[in-house]
Amino acid sequence: MTEWEILVEDGNLIVEFEKPGKKQEKRKSEDAEKLENQTKSDEGILLPPSILKNMEIRAQSIFRPEHEDIEILYALSGCSHRVNTLHQFSSEDVLYGSDSKEANVNVENMIAHIRAETGELPELLVILHTHPGGEPLPSTQDKLFFRTTAQKIKQYSSGTEVFYGIHAISGGSVRAKKDYEKIKENTIKWSSITHDHEVAFYTKESKPKEVNKNG
Ligand SMILES: [Zn+2]
Repeated sequence: MTEWEILVEDGNLIVEFEKPGKKQEKRKSEDAEKLENQTKSDEGILLPPSILKNMEIRAQSIFRPEHEDIEILYALSGCSHRVNTLHQFSSEDVLYGSDSKEANVNVENMIAHIRAETGELPELLVILHTHPGGEPLPSTQDKLFFRTTAQKIKQYSSGTEVFYGIHAISGGSVRAKKDYEKIKENTIKWSSITHDHEVAFYTKESKPKEVNKNG
């Protein structure tokens, strides 16, 4: 068989003749590219709907009528890039002096808490905090927190990959429920019947980290 292909490029008909060897090479490089792209997209954090639901409950649980909204901290852990556990830190040991602006975090106690729950530090750790009534964007203080916490965790567990999340939440009155929607590479948005949620993920350098809903 003669190896030839008809291609249409910008409306022009192109007939390409190829030797079998060359064609195989071309196929091989296309396959390699495909595989590389696949690996790349696999690197995004994978969030199952059950975890998203727990995140919603966690973030909404702090809303108290006639009180100023406070910022809270929680974490997600998992294997590879798949999240399977939500850790909630309610104790004063981990979070202190929390107000509507920024919370202070005792990283050593947070690590001790996760270790007590899971036995050892997980492969994947995502540390999240809420921005009540705000945007899911890191403040200057957040950026500093991302950098320094990642360094500390590396000291305890060099095999743990650390990412961050900012969970913006607003509302309090009844609204139309909206399903989880990926609105940006690193952001998932949804509405419960009482609150609007928007969660964005970042690396320790405050760069967007890809996230995908899993299932
Ligand atoms: Zn913040």
